Amino acid sequence: MTANATRVLVLNSGSSSLKYQLLDMHDTQSSSGSAAGRLAVGLVERIGEENSRLVHTPLATGGERRETEGAIADHTAALKAVAAELATDGLGLDSPELAAIGHRVVHGGLKFTAPTVIDDAVLAEIERLVPVAPLHNPANITGIKTAQALRPDLPQVAVFDTAFHTTMPEYAARYAIDVETADAHRIRRYGFHGTSHAYVSRKTAELLGKDPAEVNVIVLHLGNGASASAVAGGRCVDTSMGLTPLEGLVMGTRSGDIDPAVTFHLKRVAGMSEDDVDVLLNKKSGLIGLCGDNDMREIRRRIDEGDERARLAFDIYIHRLKKYIGAYSAVLGRVDAVAFTAGVGENAAPVREAAIAGLEEMGMAVDASLNAVRSGEPRLISPEYARVAVAVVPTDEELEIAQQTYALVNA
Ligand code: AMP
Repeated sequence: MTANATRVLVLNSGSSSLKYQLLDMHDTQSSSGSAAGRLAVGLVERIGEENSRLVHTPLATGGERRETEGAIADHTAALKAVAAELATDGLGLDSPELAAIGHRVVHGGLKFTAPTVIDDAVLAEIERLVPVAPLHNPANITGIKTAQALRPDLPQVAVFDTAFHTTMPEYAARYAIDVETADAHRIRRYGFHGTSHAYVSRKTAELLGKDPAEVNVIVLHLGNGASASAVAGGRCVDTSMGLTPLEGLVMGTRSGDIDPAVTFHLKRVAGMSEDDVDVLLNKKSGLIGLCGDNDMREIRRRIDEGDERARLAFDIYIHRLKKYIGAYSAVLGRVDAVAFTAGVGENAAPVREAAIAGLEEMGMAVDASLNAVRSGEPRLISPEYARVAVAVVPTDEELEIAQQTYALVNA
């Protein structure tokens, strides 16, 4: 790596999508603000279909957002198209300034507790984890192989969604099922969104002007997927997602916690297949299953019009959230802060208000006027008197992946 190689390309490959950001790590360290160091951002969606779409924004040149439609057959073609867009802006992937490519990898199992430079053995291990992450790891592997083919000389780093949660104590990570069966099939609670939980818990400590080691935080990552975590002194001690991202909070399209017997019932009584149940719980449940909408903006609009189904969906969502805040308060013993993040957490003031309402005895409260402020910056929304700080802390998984990648290749 040359001394002036300060750029990191972050790739987040989904089954039919590829999200990317090119960051200059020198600039992310020397300036603040959400756009700091971001040279280009973009997304390829509907990969493999006739109407694939590439949206590219060259932030470095202040250029206009460019959109192209047309068939992009696979991830290799998608990354090539992205490389061509970047080259148009003078940010080509052949640049000596590119230090590394950082990949979001969803499942790292127990083995990967930190970002890892990818070699054949690492790739094989990510592949071995496909049975516990069938929806995510195959796409991540494709993304890695594609990037390796494009720049075989460059370090490729895997940053795992599960890594931050590997500090969970055994009693929080194990399901209470037969130990031999669990171990034979690697069934345990792994947790996801770890990059976000790590970033947000650290930023929350920063907002409080404290060392992360001194602070206990409940992080509520509320996006279309949603998870909570209990972070004690910078280490995750519990999180709401489990073997897969299905467990825990009510999400956009996932049920979250459910009696597992519901699945037997659906198979035995409703005649549904394994795949039907999988689709029901992952894609047709949560907010969309409850009221037909998974966008919190739309749900709030319907509630304002007096829609009862939307109201009930919202109430179920909040009730689950409150249960996790209570549970993690007990797990942590002392809570210094509750941090809301991701699409819903950062934007939906009524969700924050309702989730904290009635928790005054636990030292938690939300100030209505602070809660109404719209901002992209980390901020407190609790009144001065409250014992527990309630905060909105915008997440930045790409920056976290880039920082971890850059730190590793410079170590
Ligand atoms: P994410 O997965 O973090 O991108 O979050 C996406 C979700 O955030 C959407 O499905 C919406 O429910 C929610 N969301 C985004 N913007 C807003 C907003 N302005 N108000 C309420 N909810 C929002």
